[in-house]
Amino acid sequence: MTGWLTSKSSLMSVLGEILDRMTSTENTIQDPDRLPDTAEPNGRCPVCSYRSAFNVLDVLPLSPTVNHGTPKSQVARLECMGCGNGIAVFEMYRNDLYLQSKIPTRYQAVHWWPTPNTQFSLPDVVPVEVQNPFDEGCRCAAVSAPNAAVAMFRNAIAAIVQIKGSDEANSKNTLFLTIQQMGTDGTLFNDFTEWAHHVRLTGNAGAHQEQFEDVTSEQASDLREFTRQLIEFLFVQPARRKNAMPTTRRAVES
Ligand SMILES: [Zn+2]
Repeated sequence: MTGWLTSKSSLMSVLGEILDRMTSTENTIQDPDRLPDTAEPNGRCPVCSYRSAFNVLDVLPLSPTVNHGTPKSQVARLECMGCGNGIAVFEMYRNDLYLQSKIPTRYQAVHWWPTPNTQFSLPDVVPVEVQNPFDEGCRCAAVSAPNAAVAMFRNAIAAIVQIKGSDEANSKNTLFLTIQQMGTDGTLFNDFTEWAHHVRLTGNAGAHQEQFEDVTSEQASDLREFTRQLIEFLFVQPARRKNAMPTTRRAVES
């Protein structure tokens, strides 16, 4: 009888611990940009970009099992309850995750399809030399590779100054001096000159970690936004102004 009580009370304490984890107020405070996975099927939808709840429709193993029939990696099909689109979430088995995670799970999501945060798909007026590194940077930022992301945003800035910079700007030896000259030429407003330098410096940090601290995901997100606005200002808006007929000017601004 005593043994039964002991095992019952230890079972209750385990259940209590699991319930605590599931109902803890800490769990309700979430990163607003977190992406959904099988453990927590809610978050920012990679298709519609809204915060949403998801249905987990299927989970398929991708590799041989590692532990009592547990696959080393799996892919889950989730359905956004907002827009109704399906997304794929790739997850890896992690032996150490169960006790660390707020919601008990043994899988860590490592990749999402469609790739999130690439909804900034750029119009055709943006040259491929700018578009390609920017897209690659967005993909890196989306899979939590911030150092690689900011290095790519720096490459996008380098391509921008090469295309938009004057001959004098492009004759400079360093990206720093080129951006300075673009500020002097009036190609970039002062604010944008500062931003361009900011992206350049953080991009340096991402590419040369032996000399700089690691870049955070937040910094990578900020730089994505700075770079996107720079592209908007230098390529997209001038093209819009050029194409806008005087009588349809307001309609184009939608
Ligand atoms: Zn959605």
